[in-house]
Amino acid sequence: MNFVSTRNDKEVVTASQGILKGLAENSGLYVPEKIPALDVSMDKLSKMSYQDVAYEVMKLYFTDFTEEELRNCINNAYDDKFDTKEIAPLVSCDKAYFLELFHGATIAFKDMALSILPHLMITSARKNNVSNDIVILTATSGDTGKAALAGFAGVDGTKIVVFYPNGGVSRIQELQMITTKGDNTKVVAIDGNFDEAQTGVKKMFTDADLAKRIGEKGYQFSSANSINIGRLVPQIAYYVYSYAKLVDNSEISNGDLINVCVPTGNFGNILAAYYAKNMGVPIAKLICASNENKVLYDFFKTGTYDKNRDFKLTNSPSMDILISSNLERLIHMCAGRDAKKNSELMNQLTTTGKYDITDDMKAKLDDFYGDFATQEETGKTIRDLYDKTGYIIDTHTAVAKCVYDKYVAATGDTTKTVIASTASPFKFTRSVMTAIDPKYDSWDDFDLVDELSKLGNVPIPNAIKEIRDANILHDNKCSVSGMEEAVTSFLK
Ligand SMILES: *Cc1c(COP(=O)(O)O)cnc(C)c1O
Repeated sequence: MNFVSTRNDKEVVTASQGILKGLAENSGLYVPEKIPALDVSMDKLSKMSYQDVAYEVMKLYFTDFTEEELRNCINNAYDDKFDTKEIAPLVSCDKAYFLELFHGATIAFKDMALSILPHLMITSARKNNVSNDIVILTATSGDTGKAALAGFAGVDGTKIVVFYPNGGVSRIQELQMITTKGDNTKVVAIDGNFDEAQTGVKKMFTDADLAKRIGEKGYQFSSANSINIGRLVPQIAYYVYSYAKLVDNSEISNGDLINVCVPTGNFGNILAAYYAKNMGVPIAKLICASNENKVLYDFFKTGTYDKNRDFKLTNSPSMDILISSNLERLIHMCAGRDAKKNSELMNQLTTTGKYDITDDMKAKLDDFYGDFATQEETGKTIRDLYDKTGYIIDTHTAVAKCVYDKYVAATGDTTKTVIASTASPFKFTRSVMTAIDPKYDSWDDFDLVDELSKLGNVPIPNAIKEIRDANILHDNKCSVSGMEEAVTSFLK
């Protein structure tokens, strides 16, 4: 299996090369030459551990890794950093299945991929005789940053710089990042929003002159953002696993169709579900849930992607995104894998902020259903579910739950549905608690944590306990134009 750029079908790399490079030339993304079919039966998968399912998925993509290398990466990632042996448990609640992807080190779904990426990267470096240190540059709307820091901190041969929008992440998210230990880590708040942070990082990646200058010092860039195939592929595993568990628990019979509903920002998580479907998992609809930054909802409805609109800061900040980078992989696919056509559209996005797909292409997106939830609806969803069941979900998951309810109301489709539950409510305590009762607004953040633990009858996760008394180790701010200097000054 090789990987090819979405913008140039002559640019072909092995999996390990793709993992190391992150982004292809001319801002292209690597996609597998074709999506492989699962080669073990669902009956077998249904009896497997998370780690074994992950292996069965990843071995089909990362074909230049030996079995031993891949199993090592998997075992180093999905270990007791997760607070449950199941790694990604399914919780049945209010006629849906919540796939809890937040049991890792930083209590958000980014851990599912970022706990394995450093291991994939170091293995890839070894395979390709790379002697430079690898410098990870990451733009984050909140969760990626800490998950990447947790993955890479202290890993020999790597450095990591994380940029986040100042004021654009929750206080708990910010504390998680700026208390990170490890000499090889740097955390910077930028004077701008997430898209500006992401654009700034992309610019550094594609700056040949900068690459040369840091190369002379023994460094090379790589990306931990969700465009890296080393993140996308591990995410496919939990969709296969969730289907397998539904079969194992006799919730469905092998072969029954399910729907999947995903709270979406950069389009990485839902794309992984789409890959799982194309690998043979019986998934019918992919329900794409957006917050008020509803570019994707408009896109699925009209076939026009248009980011020319006001950027909104919402109570689901990890989805406050106007350019969903991973959508390019879907566009490339529905353009019949035509790199030229895809490049034209992406260039239009860069120059005019929008593009239109043809009716033919739109017809290929029938598997997707998009809708969105306002902040008020998101809060109400948390409160209603808590009142009805006692189960407390975070704001991102609530966007998905709200959109799922709208989907059922609009279509009458009651196919069993897996909702990707992407963050622990403890990560967004303030928004969650004030949704349950506005009186909590005046409370201190950590008092809210204690109260949430009581109300929800769930223990406080380690990730929160850790930051309670931790020292602030990073106090860096810069403008969008100062991002490069922030990186080069770190690479002395
Ligand atoms: C990143 C994130 C999302 C969005 O996922 P994408 O793969 O970017 O679409 C949703 N919820 C949470 C909590 C996240 O951290």
